[in-house]
Amino acid sequence: MYLLEHDAKWLLESSSVNVPPGVLLELGGTLDLSSLPDGPWMVKGQVAAGGRGKAGLVRKAATVEEVARLSEAMFGTLLKGKRVEAVRVERQVAAAAEVYIALMVDAAAGGVRVIVSEQGGMEIESVAPRDLRSETVAADAPAVVACVERLVRGMAAATAAALTQAARKLAALFFQSEALLVEINPLFVMADGGWVAADAKIVTDDNALARQPGLQQLLAARAAAYPEAWLKQEHGFDYVVVDPEGQIGLLTTGAGLSMMLIDELRADGLRPYNFLDIRTGGFRGDPTRLVSVLGWLGAAPSVKAVLINIFAGITDLGEFAALLLDALRQAPALRVPMVARLVGTNLEAAQVLLAQAGIPIYTELDPAIAHLRRHLESC
Ligand code: GDP
Ligand code: MN
Repeated sequence: MYLLEHDAKWLLESSSVNVPPGVLLELGGTLDLSSLPDGPWMVKGQVAAGGRGKAGLVRKAATVEEVARLSEAMFGTLLKGKRVEAVRVERQVAAAAEVYIALMVDAAAGGVRVIVSEQGGMEIESVAPRDLRSETVAADAPAVVACVERLVRGMAAATAAALTQAARKLAALFFQSEALLVEINPLFVMADGGWVAADAKIVTDDNALARQPGLQQLLAARAAAYPEAWLKQEHGFDYVVVDPEGQIGLLTTGAGLSMMLIDELRADGLRPYNFLDIRTGGFRGDPTRLVSVLGWLGAAPSVKAVLINIFAGITDLGEFAALLLDALRQAPALRVPMVARLVGTNLEAAQVLLAQAGIPIYTELDPAIAHLRRHLESC
């Protein structure tokens, strides 16, 4: 989950990292003046994307009227395809030095990449490489803290002290919450060495959610902001809309296979709508997952056809086909044709069943794609 800044700051606060006090104002809600911290304020559009400052989604407000006006103007704004549905109103920090610190999983190296810079802020992408200090270290908190202590040598005393202190708390949070990324940009550093995290980007690992009650709570409170993580938790499988205007809905199992299929379709000039790893092994005779997926695909106006692609090793294709027919009876929203590419155990039984439903079956991908293409061209 790429946490909204407000939620990331909630997590930081729970690890006693200093953040400016703030409240969340949601679209359609009313501004509760009694809950506001003392002004002046920053009004910050909540979208899981960077570059909000440059897009006008981080603004100063001196009066409550201004807070209300700026919030109203931000609601509904799109940034990188994501809509602002909430704003965080927080106490404005007096201008101070803006520095940078990030911890991220470096899977290839099997460690944690640590980056610090004395020059944080909105222009971080254009900071010269020599001004970014970075190292990859072992994945444990003492190694990360020792690394930051090394990297800050030679920096101004206040900055070095602030980054080291922040690193201790951030490293603990990083490992406790099983994060993939914790990035504070900017970390405001005051002349006396005091510091506060003015922005926060935290990405957590959805696969670790089952062990993270705090994150589960957060997800339950704001499921609409994190639809994909919510789905994975509630339904136990992965479904991601990869192209909101895609024409081909995918009914697939196996993450690698599904990703390869998306690549192949795109290479053929077609637009798949979604990624899906439905995990047929988890069906246990229950068509619920299929009903959900068919419902979502049926509700997507751009989807003109559905491609089923199953390589069945353990899965019995006859059982799969029977569940699919069951699901189709329960999900009448799907009005587009389906084409199946099936390989594996008990294919013959699936052929008989799907023929009854008028779903053509291929054992090779190319003719299945050709069939889809003919259909798309005719509609
Ligand atoms: P981003 O553009 O999405 O990374 O949003 P940030 O939260 O990092 O805000 C962008 C910029 O706004 C920061 O780099 C700061 O320069 C400025 N900013 C954010 N919060 C404050 C604040 O409390 N006080 C002041 N003076 N500037 C702020
Ligand atoms: Mn930022």
